[in-house]
Amino acid sequence: MKIQLEHRQSSCPQKLRCIACRQIFAVGRVRSLLVNDEDRIQGDLCSKCVRLTADEIRLILTEQVWLMLEQPQLFQHQVESPETLALELFEVALEDLEIPSSYQRLMKTLESYLFFNRDNDRSIGAIADSTQSPWHHNY
Ligand SMILES: [Zn+2]
Repeated sequence: MKIQLEHRQSSCPQKLRCIACRQIFAVGRVRSLLVNDEDRIQGDLCSKCVRLTADEIRLILTEQVWLMLEQPQLFQHQVESPETLALELFEVALEDLEIPSSYQRLMKTLESYLFFNRDNDRSIGAIADSTQSPWHHNY
C-alpha cells in the first residue's frame, strides 16, 4: 500500500474521517489517500497520522481490524459490512507501506497553490461579468 497525495477537489467534503485514528479532521489543500496494492482507495489519513512511520500506521490499522471484529456496532453506518471491511483492512495492514517524502508533500502543496486555484478563477470571472453589464447598458 502507499499514501497517495492528491489535490483536494471542490467536490470533496471539507471534513473527513481518518482511516487510522477515526477522528474527523478538516481536509487541507492536499489529501493523503491510503491506497492498497490493487490501487483501491481505503480512506484519507489526517495530518497527524501522515506523520507516523509505516510500522505505526500498520499497527493502528491492525487495531482497527480488532475493533471492527469485536465491536462491529461502531461501524454499522458503513456501506460494507464490518467483517468485509475488517478483512480488507487486515490485508492492507500486511502490505508494505510507501510514504511520500516531506519534499514530495511540499511540492504537491506548492503545485496546489500555483495551479489549483479554480475557485479563485471562477470569482474573477464573476467580477468581470458584473463590471461588463453596466458598461454595455450605456451603449
Ligand atoms: Zn488520523
